[in-house]
Amino acid sequence: MNTYSQGSTSTPASSVGAHPALRSHERASGVADRYVHFANSALGRRVISAFGLPQPAVLRRWQPHEPEFPGPVMVDTSPGSALGDRLIGMLEGLGANVVSPARVDIVKGLHALVFDATTVQSSAELKRFFDFFQPRVRSLAACARVVVLGRPPQQAAMTAQSIAQRALEGAVRSLAKELRQGATAQLIYVTPGAEGALESTLRFFLTARSAFVSGQVVRVDPPVDPVVTWDRSRPLTGRTAVVTGASRGIGEAIVRVLAREGARVIGVDVPAAEVALRRVCESVGGLALALDVTAADAGARMAQAADGCIDVMVHNAGITRDKRLVNMREDQWSSVMEVNLLAPERVTEALVALKALPRGARVVCVSSMSGIAGNAGQVNYAASKAGVIGLVQSYAPRLAPDGVTINAIAPGFIETQMTGAMPFAIREAGRRLNSLGQGGQPVDVAEAIAWLAHPGSGGVTGQVVRVCGQNWLGA
Ligand code: NAD
Repeated sequence: MNTYSQGSTSTPASSVGAHPALRSHERASGVADRYVHFANSALGRRVISAFGLPQPAVLRRWQPHEPEFPGPVMVDTSPGSALGDRLIGMLEGLGANVVSPARVDIVKGLHALVFDATTVQSSAELKRFFDFFQPRVRSLAACARVVVLGRPPQQAAMTAQSIAQRALEGAVRSLAKELRQGATAQLIYVTPGAEGALESTLRFFLTARSAFVSGQVVRVDPPVDPVVTWDRSRPLTGRTAVVTGASRGIGEAIVRVLAREGARVIGVDVPAAEVALRRVCESVGGLALALDVTAADAGARMAQAADGCIDVMVHNAGITRDKRLVNMREDQWSSVMEVNLLAPERVTEALVALKALPRGARVVCVSSMSGIAGNAGQVNYAASKAGVIGLVQSYAPRLAPDGVTINAIAPGFIETQMTGAMPFAIREAGRRLNSLGQGGQPVDVAEAIAWLAHPGSGGVTGQVVRVCGQNWLGA
């Protein structure tokens, strides 16, 4: 599905009549989804229910002054679980009001349901999943969270356990599709020994930071280095982050979120975008580096700007040159491959050679749903974005002994100036064909990157996480 196409015109957001929770993010992205506003107005609700139209919720996005957990978190642990009390302690440490499934008095307003399935050994035992969720799904509040914790099926000692753990994927992905009002569901496979390395992942998936992420399956392994401590409100304090394509759109949001998390940010963009780049970087006390990422010495220049030490490297710069292959010119193939794939490859290789990625460093690449599902008119773009996934998967084992992680985020339809310039019908299809019935905001991609950049995310590497509202394509 083409969720992202080239263009230069923008659709300025009109905040007049906008739902308050949408305003600030739309102002940031410059693009408004008027259907979501309409669907959440009094008139809209009547029209939508009369005609059976989709009813996208106003997604709650994390704001520093708002509570992380606006309602109780019900946790089902099971006897003999290695997670058990540790999980509850971690959630309470994050500020959650953890309640037990014995609390039959709570019939609405639950912020989250967390199910520990790590002890499930056989398919018959999956009935516990049914028993926990079936009576409680209706108790979830708007924008609630469901998290299921399992064991990686590939590492199961017994065949029956492997089968049952694999079955969780179907259950969680389907439940995610059934949830309403902006609620989401994810499955986290916890490798034995990684129980103490879950905090940053739970912080992301159980709060409004993961507003546009649903139906994802993530694995947390024991980190190579011991889990360190961090400032919970500004976990990237003392770290330097380099973000490419930082002057606008998703890159600008990444700069702002990483700075909010405490990082010193160096934004990179082409010299033609220098004025906008400076505006973004200076507004968060960061540094602007006007540099084309395809330059042969791009990696060395980034390392130099960061005084030889890049704790967080975000390869976000990207372009599209959409044409069916039969009509594609050679330069349209080459430029997309150069910016989207060859540049991140060269820069990563240079940073490794220069030893500019210290222990605990995080590399995050921005791929795309097109790179997973393929898309007519984007053979070049999809090749480059699938290549980015290959980059992450091949570098992960290489970087692991140095305590460095590398992951990819694959956005679906994100409201940026580019998607705002798509033809109406394609844009509407891109927005609605997902479980949340709307496009994401640049901040949704940025929050996912901040999770992977977190000092506590050392157990997550070599993975691809979609920020796509559980788009129906390629999932
Ligand atoms: P955008 O065009 O708004 O921003 C891309 C930025 O990259 C621009 O500031 C541009 O100047 C910069 N850039 C381009 N070539 C560069 C180069 N050679 N050197 C340095 N900077 C360069 O796009 P966006 O929507 O914010 O997308 C950001 C990333 O997300 C891209 O990698 C894109 O492929 C990916 N993505 C976007 C969507 C979406 O729906 N918007 C979906 C999937 C993936």
